[in-house]
Amino acid sequence: MRKRLIPLLLLIFCLAGCAANPAAPAPTPTLTLAPQSMIVSSSTPVPTATAILTWTATPTATATHVRSATPTATNTSTPVPTETPTVTPTPTVPFIVAIDPGHGGVDLGARHFNDEGKMDFYESEVVLDIALRLARLLEEKRYGVVLTRDDDYLLNNYVGENIGPDITGEGEVDWVDDLQMRVDLINEAKADLVLSIHLNGFDHPDKEIVRQVYGTTTYYCEARPFAEKSRRFAQIVQEYVLAFLAEAGLKTYDRGAIPDSTLAVPGEPGQHLVLLGPCEERCVRPSQMPGALSEPVFISNPMEAEFLKRPEFLEALAATYVAAIEAYRAEVGR
Ligand SMILES: [Zn+2]
Repeated sequence: MRKRLIPLLLLIFCLAGCAANPAAPAPTPTLTLAPQSMIVSSSTPVPTATAILTWTATPTATATHVRSATPTATNTSTPVPTETPTVTPTPTVPFIVAIDPGHGGVDLGARHFNDEGKMDFYESEVVLDIALRLARLLEEKRYGVVLTRDDDYLLNNYVGENIGPDITGEGEVDWVDDLQMRVDLINEAKADLVLSIHLNGFDHPDKEIVRQVYGTTTYYCEARPFAEKSRRFAQIVQEYVLAFLAEAGLKTYDRGAIPDSTLAVPGEPGQHLVLLGPCEERCVRPSQMPGALSEPVFISNPMEAEFLKRPEFLEALAATYVAAIEAYRAEVGR
């Protein structure tokens, strides 16, 4: 009975983590709306997505959120032709990676509860930490990097005050509008690849059952023109993360690199993740590049959560994503 129960609940929770259902939102009267340009500096300027986001309630926040993680690492190394000034260096178009830390703001994502039953940390803050580390590491390797968010916010708030606009135009402002803004942003930046970073979670009143649920999953969408690329990227990410976790001494379970349609909930609209999938009943503009959504561990699992509390673990996980991206490029190209 329990064995049957677990997979069912898992699906529900994971989808919550990724798409369908935000964590129980709390009123946040102080929440400010998504700030804007999340384009991170790169060795070659990346087209910014600022323009499409200028309508937000906090227009003055735009400039402050242009992040420059490693200003000295990139700009100073721009190739300068020294021998023959008349020769124009061949422009190298950077490979642009879009990094999407899941959730944010009122949407905490999956949560971890301590032995007293108190929530002590949660998905949206941990995935942001990993994403910022990944952005820095990629910049050091001269990748173009786009972050869908670089702090603790939703791109389009849909709870409490300061509700954002109806991006999808179906007459309702909800979590899909936030995800649509993420898709619009990475499309505008012309990213070559997208990696969405999440953590899985499992809620159950019986702590022993929570303890038994762990493992690693990577999702891709099989219903896109570039599905084969996405599938390979997901497989590579899964393979690299599993190898990393084994090396880190974390016992994990391979849940596979699997199609996002496995997350579909009967009766709910949409068969795919908004960030990766085709537009059907929910979003209106799909992402235009291959990608995957990684759920390396369960934040709800006490053992996996202990690892997530270590900065060196998060750094190494970020480095693992870099290695996976490089392996993907070597095999698939752009
Ligand atoms: Zn999530």
